[in-house]
Amino acid sequence: MTFQALRGTSDLLAGELARWEAVERTVRRLARRYGYQELRTPVIEDAALFSRSVGETSNIVQKEMFRFEDRGGREIVLRPEGTAAVVRAYLEHHLHKTQGFAKLFYLGPMFRAERPQAGRMRQFHQFGVEAVGSSSPWLDAEVITLCLEMLKACGLTDASLLLASMGCRADQAKSAERLRKRLAPHRAELCKDCQSRFDKNVFRVLDCKNPTCREIVWSEKRSPFVLCAECEAHFAQVKRALADVGIAFNESAVFARGLDYYTRTVFEVRSSRLGAQDAVTAGGRYDHLVKELGGPDVGAIGFAAGIERLLMAVHGGTPSDAADDHRAGIYVAVARPDLLAGGFSLVQRLRRRGVTALMDYEGRSLKAQFREADDARCQWVAILGEQELKTQSVTVKDLAQGSQRTIALDAFVEEAAQGVKAACHR
Ligand SMILES: [Zn+2]
Ligand SMILES: [Zn+2]
Repeated sequence: MTFQALRGTSDLLAGELARWEAVERTVRRLARRYGYQELRTPVIEDAALFSRSVGETSNIVQKEMFRFEDRGGREIVLRPEGTAAVVRAYLEHHLHKTQGFAKLFYLGPMFRAERPQAGRMRQFHQFGVEAVGSSSPWLDAEVITLCLEMLKACGLTDASLLLASMGCRADQAKSAERLRKRLAPHRAELCKDCQSRFDKNVFRVLDCKNPTCREIVWSEKRSPFVLCAECEAHFAQVKRALADVGIAFNESAVFARGLDYYTRTVFEVRSSRLGAQDAVTAGGRYDHLVKELGGPDVGAIGFAAGIERLLMAVHGGTPSDAADDHRAGIYVAVARPDLLAGGFSLVQRLRRRGVTALMDYEGRSLKAQFREADDARCQWVAILGEQELKTQSVTVKDLAQGSQRTIALDAFVEEAAQGVKAACHR
């Protein structure tokens, strides 16, 4: 009997992981540059957190959550998205009192029971940014700018930004009426889900994945959203701020975020390398969520990006941080198996000084050890033979240049450690 990873989940092995680590490094570096601090929340949460925030009628809550009752009879879910948990943590740790305004980011797995397909997994991974505690339109511009910079730094070259404003709650009531009127002639053609969404939450029809529903929705290019004067001014300021820093956007498209909490600015980033339905990133303002989850009446905005989809869109292109195919580290090779002890003590000395050091413990031939050093992309092979052991020295071969020299053991360890130190300060 053998086991396989569950459908919609996958293992990440070293080769692919390098691209993931590059994304993670890029996200952390840029988030900090913009003053955002990392937040790590648990993978399991109270199910009610998501029905209260994402919404009872959303696809996520209705169909996609991994939900179970724990031994104490509590309704638990594997988190399907990040925003609700970030706001929960913001309130639980009283950041609204101690900091007021909080700029946070996260990285981690999310879970949705969808039909698995390319770029859409049941355990998928997101990074996201949330600025909680302000309604300033400048913040919308900052979050969108940060989002695009992160994607670009991860290697996405064809990002296109879709921008809309869904208005405030009062505007949304009017927009819903307008959208119902627009869709009414096609009501019978909509899918079964959308038939019921039509009355309960008509915006849901906008992000239905059914092809017929999409065709009906996209046949109308004008935005269904009506904005009051304040929301109009807010949106105008967001667009001005983006234009000022040279960010192009497209606001003619019809789209809405399928989560209940969105208000005012919503945005998506798409790539031509993904299908038309799949955004790399989605985000927006959620000015009522903090209050609805029991906190003060403050605005917030954020976005989340799918790492699997981003890597698909980058498609073999190497994120800038991952471009380190150069050789590094030291392979300690021993001429005979009885010299393993000397080799082991040398790799440990090197590792303790911060140097990457590898060796073989199987007593293989020198030739086999050299092959392994090459496969591991090591820069040097440090050979320990009987002669070297006697004179407390080591013969070092540079695999990149082919040169070779013999040097005192202590001097070698010191030189390697200084080299690492210099590399870290470059
Ligand atoms: Zn409004
Ligand atoms: Zn539908």
